[in-house]
Amino acid sequence: LQSKLPEVGVSIFSQMTALAQQTGALNLAQGFPDYDPPLLLREALARHALAPGSHQYAPMPGLLRLRQAIAAQVARLLPEAPAPDADQEITILAGATEGLYAVLAAVVRPGDEVIILEPAYDLYGPAVRLQGGVPRYVRLPAPHFQPDWAAVRAACSARTKLLLINTPHNPSGAVFTAADWQALGQLAEDYDALVLADEVYGPLVYDGVAPGSAWQHPALRARSFVLASFGKTYHATGWKVGYCLAPPALTTQLRRVHQFVTFAVSTPTQHALADALEADPTDAHWRGLATFYQAKRDAFRTGLAGSAWQLLPVPGGYFQLAGYAAFSGAGDLAFAQELARAWGVAVVPVSAFYHDGYDPGLVRFCFAKEAATLAAATARLRRPP
Ligand code: PMP
Ligand code: GLN
Repeated sequence: LQSKLPEVGVSIFSQMTALAQQTGALNLAQGFPDYDPPLLLREALARHALAPGSHQYAPMPGLLRLRQAIAAQVARLLPEAPAPDADQEITILAGATEGLYAVLAAVVRPGDEVIILEPAYDLYGPAVRLQGGVPRYVRLPAPHFQPDWAAVRAACSARTKLLLINTPHNPSGAVFTAADWQALGQLAEDYDALVLADEVYGPLVYDGVAPGSAWQHPALRARSFVLASFGKTYHATGWKVGYCLAPPALTTQLRRVHQFVTFAVSTPTQHALADALEADPTDAHWRGLATFYQAKRDAFRTGLAGSAWQLLPVPGGYFQLAGYAAFSGAGDLAFAQELARAWGVAVVPVSAFYHDGYDPGLVRFCFAKEAATLAAATARLRRPP
C-alpha cells in the first residue's frame, strides 16, 4: 500500500515518552501533567460511572447540559462578547485533536492553501495534506515567536482558505497581543479566509496579562473555529474531551464531519465535566490556572538560573524552550536522546515542529509537573554528566 503520509513516522511525543520509559529518564517531553484532575471531577466521573442511565450515546453535538455550562462560562470569561449559543455554536469533541482534524476535513478542498506558523504542532501539516490541501508555512521569529504579519501576508493568496493559529503557542509559549489579533482579523478579511484558532492553552497566560480569544473579536468570531481542551484546563489529557466554538454556519459544517469521525464523545465523562463547571460559578478553577502554572514555570526557571542553559521567555503555555549550545554542538534530536540517556531528563527536540527539519538548536521542556519532579529535573540539568 502506498502511504498517504510517507514521511510521517511515530509522533515525536510518543517517541520521546517511549525513550523516557526505556531509559528511566524524568519525562518532561510529551505535554501532560504528572498529577491528577481535581478530586471533585474524579468523584463526579465515579458517580456517573456508577449511576444507571448515562452509558449510551450522547447526542452527536455533545450533552446539552455540558454545552450550556460551557456557554455560561464563556459568557462569564468574555463578558464583552456575545455568549455562544449552546445549541448552534458549541460542539463537544474528542479532544482538540479531533477538532483540528474535523475542521480541516470540513473546510479544506484539494488545492486549498492553509497558513501554518512554524514551529507548529505536529498534526497541522499532515492533517491539511490528507485533505489535499497545501500547507503554506511561515516561520515565527525566535526568540519571541510573535508572528511577522508582513511575512504571513506575503504567504497569502487567492487560494488561502484558512489561517491556522495557536495561542498560547506550543512549543514557544508566545501569546497573541491585541495587535496580533487585529492583524489576523484584517488578513482573514482581506483574503476572505477562515481561521482555526487552537486555544487549548487559553487560560495559561502569565505575568498579569489577560487571556485572549478569537471569540472576543467580532471580525474573527464570524469566521473562526475556536478550539479548547478540557485535557489542559482540568489536567485530564487522558479524558480526551474538548470543544469548538464557531458561528452556526461553520458549526453545521464541523458537525457533518464530527458525526462520521467520532459521532459522540463519552457520556459519563461529559456529565462529570458539566458537574465540575456547574459547581464553579465563579470559574475559580479556570482563573486559578495562570497562577498555578506560573509558579511551575518560575520554579523550573529558578532551578536553572545561573546555569549554562539558555532559557527563552515563556509568556504562556506549559513549555519552556532552552538553548543548549553551551553543552553540545549536536543536532537537537541527537542531543535530546543524549539528555534522556545520560542526563536522565526526556525533552522534545524543536526541529520536530518544522516540516523541513529546520533545527533552531532548542529543546522543549514540559513544566506541567509536580514541584518534586521539577526539582529533580533541574538538579540533573545543572550537573552535566
Ligand atoms: N493543540 C495543541 C497546540 C496541543 O499542544 C495539543 C496537545 N496536546 C492539542 C492541540 C491536542 O489537544 P487534545 O489533547 O485535547 O486532543
Ligand atoms: N500536545 C502534547 C505535546 O505537545 C502531545 C500530545 C500528543 O502526544 N499527541 O507534547
